[in-house]
Amino acid sequence: MKKLISLLVVVFMITACNQKKCENDKKDSMKTINENTIKKAIDELFAQHGKDNSLRIETGVNQVAQFWKSEDGNEDDFIKFCKENFIADQEKLDVFFNKTSHYFEMLFGSFNMLNIELKRTLHLDLGELTPVDMLFGSYDPSSHFMDDMFNNKLAHHVLLNFPHYSLAEKEAKGKDWTRKEWAYARMADVFTSRTPASLLLKEAQIETEADTYISEYNIIMHNLRDNAGKQLFTDSLRLISHWGLRDELKANYNKGEDGLNKQKLIYEVMKRIITQEIPKEVINNEELVWNPYKNTAKKGDADVSITPEPNVRYEHLLNQFKVLKEIDPYCPYYSTYIDRAFEKNMEMRQEFVEKLFVELVSSEQIKKVGALISKRLGRSLEPFDIWYDGFKSRSNQNESELSKTLNKKYPDVKAYEKDIPNFLVKLGFEKEKAQDISKHIVVEGARGAGHAWGAQMKGDVAHLRSRIPKGGMDYKGYNIGMHELGHCVEQTITLYDIDYYMLKGVPNTAFTEAMAFMFQKRDLSLMGINNKDENEKYLQTLDIFWSMYEIMGVSLVDMNVWKWLYANPDATPEQLKNQVLVITKDIWNKYYAPVFGKKDEPILGIYSHMIAYPLYLSAYPVGHLIEFQVEDYIKTNNAVFAKEIYRMLLNGSVVPQHWMLKAVNQEISNKPVFKAVEEALAKVN
Ligand SMILES: [Zn+2]
Repeated sequence: MKKLISLLVVVFMITACNQKKCENDKKDSMKTINENTIKKAIDELFAQHGKDNSLRIETGVNQVAQFWKSEDGNEDDFIKFCKENFIADQEKLDVFFNKTSHYFEMLFGSFNMLNIELKRTLHLDLGELTPVDMLFGSYDPSSHFMDDMFNNKLAHHVLLNFPHYSLAEKEAKGKDWTRKEWAYARMADVFTSRTPASLLLKEAQIETEADTYISEYNIIMHNLRDNAGKQLFTDSLRLISHWGLRDELKANYNKGEDGLNKQKLIYEVMKRIITQEIPKEVINNEELVWNPYKNTAKKGDADVSITPEPNVRYEHLLNQFKVLKEIDPYCPYYSTYIDRAFEKNMEMRQEFVEKLFVELVSSEQIKKVGALISKRLGRSLEPFDIWYDGFKSRSNQNESELSKTLNKKYPDVKAYEKDIPNFLVKLGFEKEKAQDISKHIVVEGARGAGHAWGAQMKGDVAHLRSRIPKGGMDYKGYNIGMHELGHCVEQTITLYDIDYYMLKGVPNTAFTEAMAFMFQKRDLSLMGINNKDENEKYLQTLDIFWSMYEIMGVSLVDMNVWKWLYANPDATPEQLKNQVLVITKDIWNKYYAPVFGKKDEPILGIYSHMIAYPLYLSAYPVGHLIEFQVEDYIKTNNAVFAKEIYRMLLNGSVVPQHWMLKAVNQEISNKPVFKAVEEALAKVN
């Protein structure tokens, strides 16, 4: 997870005393400068600097006008500002760029450090949360950044001097840009909205509430009962929805009828969560036993009356929608959250992503792989087989044996942290480079499922967080730890070794996920377990392909829910729940029922990301596509993993398609996956 999440109750104070300011913000809409004034400013700048810079002048003046509020000054002030601050001279422009870039690093880096510290107790396994943790954890020190930068007009300087390019322009022109031109374009991307701080505070508050709801949502597995009243899961098993439930479901392949019964029971739990029929009394509660099939609960031998969770899940999603919609008018280049998620953040058009996903989930190859899975399982497919795990070589490894080894090797986070340079050397980094990267990574025990939080300034460290239970690290924690290590290595290289700070990072979260996936899938070989099965390569292809099928379906649900929300902005939580059910079943019936032979299954609605991190999910399947293309490139060229990854990461945050062309000579597409799946099917069948 790579998010700068934010805040809570301090906000009440701020929003209350800022009531008047909010009203002013509404009245004081952006773009208060008329066309004549814009023309006058442009003409005067032409007269001052000649027409050499005509395109930059026209774009810059229009950009400032677009974000100008009456509080910035009147029309004369506007013209004066443009005349005094347009930089025609290239050397002076470079000085402005370099200084601003440095100051940004100091600001973003420090905000990030503060954020990490203030959320430390919320994110780490540090005991019970108290209200004071929520107060500080939900406070976002950067929430006034945009306001301040517009108030002191730094934003106006950037808008005036650095043309903003749309995604289409970046894709078309960016091919011929130098690194410096790319860095300039990225500076223009800093100021694409002028959202009032009060609204950003509100957004952060709502996000934190959703995040906390999700990360504290545990199912007490040993308290579940089947219809015979039997306990299927071992004592002290508490699983977080949906990650923990899903992973337990995956771990129960290859375990005969007992395994299948556990899987069926988990799916019943999931359905009760999606439909919100889950009794609110059983969430996080050790005291009640619950039969999810009949939806009845007991305390000891006595029946207990239960109340369904009152649509809390959908209330959080609705709150996210409402606040994000409120922000729309302050983003002139991207007028909906859907645009911001795709065009701005992902830098891939939503229609392109949807088409890519539909092409894959409705492909012939998927039907063939589905038939193969059914054959391997010796039964017809169940809806939860979207998480079929039997292509992984590790399904043949005894997980508890692996955990025993890991318990001993990594009794605590520090033991794991100490081993990071060795992991990196095994992946092909030179010893010195491995140590250099490792010293910028700190490992900590997560409260939730685990995440990686990178630094934003040189001199700071990336935080790798994974769950480490009392007895030492288990296989699940190790596997997630490897995923997060991939993130941390990416975050470190693309901060410390990049040529321009403005180009730090990767094009979007799909790329950092791709890095994380590639580290994660090397987990066993990093333990020294090398699977000799010659079919492994083909099985791995099928495994990735099947997991793409799963997440693409969930992403399609996510996208369609958001389209529906924009069309139905006044929906109630109950209406939203019903519509999520309609959409999940519709996507299921179109792309999954033909493979599974069962209609109207709601399973695609279980993901927690939909609630806590809206429209983030597409990053995962696109991440898999990238992962696949990169792995394919490395294999085909017989190259060393670490060396190629390092070379690719130095591309930094150019747009996705350019990054891919430089990295693997291909744009993002399904074609290489389809080809490889056909090859794999021929061998594995
Ligand atoms: Zn990740």
